[in-house]
Parts: sequence; C-alpha cells; structure tokens
Amino acid sequence: MISHSKPSIKKYEIERTSKVLMSGNHATGEIVEKFEKKLSSFIGVEGGVATNSGTSALHIALLVLGVKPNDEVIIPSFVCTALMNAIGYVGAKPVLADIGEDTFNIDYKSVLAKLTKKTKVVIIPHMFGLPVNVAPFLNSGIYIIEDCAQSLGAAIGRRITGSVGHISIFSFYATKLISTGYGGMLVSNSKTFLNRARDLLDFDERRNCKLRFNYNMTDFQAALGISQLARLKDFIRKRIETASYYDKRFDKLPMKLPIRQRNIYYRYVVRIDKDAVSIISCLKRYGIEAKRPVFKPLHLYLGLERSKFPAAEKVFREAVSLPIYPDLKDGEKRRVADTLITVLDDRL
Ligand SMILES: *Cc1c(COP(=O)(O)O)cnc(C)c1O
Repeated sequence: MISHSKPSIKKYEIERTSKVLMSGNHATGEIVEKFEKKLSSFIGVEGGVATNSGTSALHIALLVLGVKPNDEVIIPSFVCTALMNAIGYVGAKPVLADIGEDTFNIDYKSVLAKLTKKTKVVIIPHMFGLPVNVAPFLNSGIYIIEDCAQSLGAAIGRRITGSVGHISIFSFYATKLISTGYGGMLVSNSKTFLNRARDLLDFDERRNCKLRFNYNMTDFQAALGISQLARLKDFIRKRIETASYYDKRFDKLPMKLPIRQRNIYYRYVVRIDKDAVSIISCLKRYGIEAKRPVFKPLHLYLGLERSKFPAAEKVFREAVSLPIYPDLKDGEKRRVADTLITVLDDRL
C-alpha cells in the first residue's frame, strides 16, 4: 500500500531526540525555548509559544485575543473540525464562509458578507500549502489568526505565511509538513499577546488560580522539531518535485490540477468531474491510499443549507488528495500516476 502521507525521520534525528530523553529533562525546558526562537525567527516575528497541538495553540490564541462566549469567529467551511473545536472551547460561535473553488482557500467576499458587530476574529487557514493573501483581511479591523498548520514555509513574495496575522498558529502533528508527533506553536509580533499566551500555559506554583492550561510541549519533541525545521527546505523541494511530476503525467486528463504558483503542496489535490469517493475506493483496490482532503465540510456538520456554500460543496464532491510526502519514491510516484490514469480510463 502506498500511504497518503508519511513523516520523514533520519537516524540522527532519533539520536538527538534520545539524547534529550537521556538527559532526564523530559518536560518543558531550554530546548522548547530554542525551538520557539528558531521557528519565530524563521517566520520573522517577535516570538513564539510552543504547545502540544495546533488545536491547543488555536485555543490559546482565541483566549489571548479575548474571544468570549457568544462572540463570532469566521472560518471557512472547507477545513478540518479542529477549528470548530477550538472555537467551541471558548464558547464562541463559528460562522462559516465559502471558499474559492480553485484555491480551496477562504473567500474574501464571503467573509465580508459574514461580518457582524459580534465578529471578533477571522481565522485564515492556508489550505493544502497554498498561501492566502492576508493583507486585505486586515482592513476589516477584526483580529486575524493565520492558521499555518498546512503552510509552514509557504510565502507570497517575501511575506511568509504566519508573519502577517495578529497571531499565527502551526501544527507539528504526524502528517504535517514537519512532525513532532503531536505539537503546535503560536507566534506573534505582539509582546503583550505572547506574554498572555505564556501566562495561560504556566500553571504551576502561581499566586492566583486563574484558569490555565497544561498544553505544553516537551523538550524531546522540541529536539525533533528543531531538526525537522532544518530539513523543511528540502522537504518542500521534494514536494514540489513530486507535484511537477504529477502535473506532467496528468496534463491531458479531464481533471483540474492544483494551482502551481507559490504552492508548497502539503497536499496534491485534483478535482475530477466524477464522484470523488468512487475514485478513492478504486485507487484503494490498486493499493493506493487517496483521501478526501477534508473529511466533511463544516456546514454539513452544522446542518446548514448546502446551497449557501456552492464552492465548498463542489470541491467536496470532486476533490481527491493523492499521496505526496518527501520520502515518496520515484517508482511509487509512477505507480500513483499510472493507476489514476487507468482508473479514469476505465470510468470514461
Ligand atoms: C492539523 C490542522 C489543525 C490542528 O492541528 P493539530 O495539531 O492536529 O491539533 C488546525 N488547522 C489546520 C488547517 C490543520 O490542518
């Protein structure tokens, strides 16, 4: 079976992580601090606060921005449930915007249509490795959280994702661009926001009993994070190579290929004018794990009217995410391409 995604770990990374384990410092210490410095300086912002997941980073970000019960937070419908969960943790209300059919990213006009007096934050995920131009959203005067769980290293010109929003969050979950098993971070240019975030995580031996969160990252995870971050450039190069190979092979097929410009291909998502589910199950029979890039759009979870989210609906029906990861071998890429071509031939 060719899997849909896979982390890439080298022996020296295991050795560095083991060294931290052997040192006896298993909780949060100097190595976490070093990882925070490395990542925030890579993004070009003031600082970062590491967490145990992207979801917890998002939860802390919402608290830091003062989101309260009954406030509204705008997110796209075509995204994983993690965003809705984090909004639920603070008792706020998720308000869904539609996406761009070709970018898969949150649609600016749809966001404008959803703004109300209660809107506190817009969360902008850069989906599947394609960066959103965040600047126009800042004009709304609402707080912006960039969700860079899928876009670490993607940039528009010199503006790297995570450097524009009031707060940005990252995930280092096993399948993401770099892995610490589970893990996350929030970064910001605001010292006030960073201090508030730190305060919310630092729960031990405090003078008051304000609600705080045990969301901390461990030093051995951070050791892995540091070595993974050093490999990011190479990871992205390999992803782009695989995507170019797929692009060439699929050039003449009746399907839409992902946008090339600025894409770092966290996912390689094609759109086939057929039912995605049947294509995915055919590929599985040939030993290839393809997936829906989003399991189910959020408007379906919330029981909202399908016709209000035409682009998310269309993409949900048509999108197939193919295997792509740095260690994917040439022979495997060829097999993925050959098989998809065969499967499509059979069904035309
Ligand atoms: C993975 C992901 C998250 C959540 O990160 P976890 O580390 O799994 O909690 C949030 N947003 C997006 C866009 C993601 O892909």
